[in-house]
Amino acid sequence: MMQQSSGDLDDLYMEIILDHYKSPRNRADLSHISDDETHENPSCGDTLKLEVHMGDDGRIDSARFDGHGCAISTASASLMTERLPGKTAEEARQFIDVFLKVLRGGEPPSRLEEWGDLAVLGGVVQFPLRVKCATLAWHALDKTLEELNP
Ligand code: ZN
Repeated sequence: MMQQSSGDLDDLYMEIILDHYKSPRNRADLSHISDDETHENPSCGDTLKLEVHMGDDGRIDSARFDGHGCAISTASASLMTERLPGKTAEEARQFIDVFLKVLRGGEPPSRLEEWGDLAVLGGVVQFPLRVKCATLAWHALDKTLEELNP
């Protein structure tokens, strides 16, 4: 009989998620953003603020987040912001669309493979209670792009 991993996700997945949880990329103090603009996942208690800057060339030049959340919500925001610079708003919207489809089970997790470490988040689809943790940053990005209206 095969020895099963004791965790919810396999070891490599957990390793990447915990690395981003312990050392989040692009986390910054965003206290200048009103608390009214905090995005929340009440089912877990995750909170998140997101700031996206568009460069003069119409591409995202930086994306930063702030907040408190579980390992999956923090890792998702960290992995997402890592891949945003260089994307146009349209490319970012497609990025959101594919990610949300995968997390809702409408597309296979293999769709995320071209995005490097971010692909580990596809494993969350097996844990419906954690899907809102993984998608919080992405809904925040969608809202932020809408407000920037680039
Ligand atoms: Zn959570």
